[in-house]
Amino acid sequence: MTLTPVRTQRSSEELIRAENTALAHNYHPLPVVVARAEGVWVEDVEGRRYLDMLAGYSALNFGHRHPGLVAAAHRQLDEVTLTSRAFHNDRLAGFAEGLAELTGLEMTLPMNTGAEAVESAVKVARKWAYEVKGVAPDRATIIVADGNFHGRTTTIVSFSTDETARGGFGPFTPGFRIVPYNDLAALENAIDETTAAVLIEPIQGEAGVLIPDDGYLAGVRELTRRAGCLFIADEIQSGLGRTGTTLAVDHESVVPDMLLLGKALGGGIVPVSAVVARRDVLGVLRPGEHGSTFGGNPLAAAVGSAVVDLLATGEFQRRAAELGEVLRDGLTGLVGKGVVGFRSRGLWAGVDVDPAIGSGREISERLMAEGILVKDTHGSTIRIAPPLTITREELGSALASLEKVLG
Ligand SMILES: *Cc1c(COP(=O)(O)O)cnc(C)c1O
Repeated sequence: MTLTPVRTQRSSEELIRAENTALAHNYHPLPVVVARAEGVWVEDVEGRRYLDMLAGYSALNFGHRHPGLVAAAHRQLDEVTLTSRAFHNDRLAGFAEGLAELTGLEMTLPMNTGAEAVESAVKVARKWAYEVKGVAPDRATIIVADGNFHGRTTTIVSFSTDETARGGFGPFTPGFRIVPYNDLAALENAIDETTAAVLIEPIQGEAGVLIPDDGYLAGVRELTRRAGCLFIADEIQSGLGRTGTTLAVDHESVVPDMLLLGKALGGGIVPVSAVVARRDVLGVLRPGEHGSTFGGNPLAAAVGSAVVDLLATGEFQRRAAELGEVLRDGLTGLVGKGVVGFRSRGLWAGVDVDPAIGSGREISERLMAEGILVKDTHGSTIRIAPPLTITREELGSALASLEKVLG
């Protein structure tokens, strides 16, 4: 038997070339090839270090390889990793109980990716509409907001308003109505007897961290309650400490009927998502009607439980709120100095850069040269969402780098 020789590590340039040849081009990554990471720092193949100010689109709220989360994963790797839901596993009950305690809701449907949680919520809302609300068969509608981002599956892009996300992927799933975001009157107009649910992001992340007016989320809650339809909050990006509270809806003390979690729920280690809802909502699902081979697997449940335990301390929410003030102050100081405007809540900001200085992509590349990783979104907006474990000093140095590249 001949052994394949151990390949020597290829350079960043070679690896980028190889990726471009061997992978579908559905992303346009910054030209950095990460080889290892710890906390808020990542290191590339050549040993250059970067501050990660994107944090996996908030999947890394607790930083890279958080010791407690890695330990939970290691422990579980030595016990059992996958059973399928054909059998019970000893991690799942605790995970669901923890989520119930954290969110004030009652039941969990465990899935893997965010898009699956959204798909699951769409199915549950429709079934609830027929079985509980009494909507005529196949007539249920779900109302969504303009500029939404809920994932990439065929049904989800059916109600996207982003032509890049939709173009060429039809025919689309019917049964969705799109209303302007942050517009309660338009929402009220769109609700009728066929409405199963209103599905919105409490803060629109991909759209550029768009924060609705105070009272909007409470208004959505009130309208849906009065109309007898469900309020589904997609907190896959906004949730789990990012905005300074456990959930973004907490800023208005609102409890939705269905809550969608993902990204940080897997601690940046494994994909874990969940639909968390009241018993009378998730109760419409019976055996065989929905499922997932990997959903609720013991490894995911162990890591997810460890994430819930971290959030139960309140420490990360507090950090996000306190350092969020530092971020806001820093960005306020840059308005008029290359920044035309920004929106922020907690450790999450969408920063509109003067297009004369550069596109969001160009600014991201200049920041990369300074050792700061961010991601652009839509034209000249860059998105800042560091791990919630970032220190005041690290945040200060990132803001100083931003000032430098804008100057
Ligand atoms: C990322 C995201 C999703 C989709 O999650 P995936 O894990 O990428 O499928 C859905 N909704 C929101 C708000 C997101 O930010």
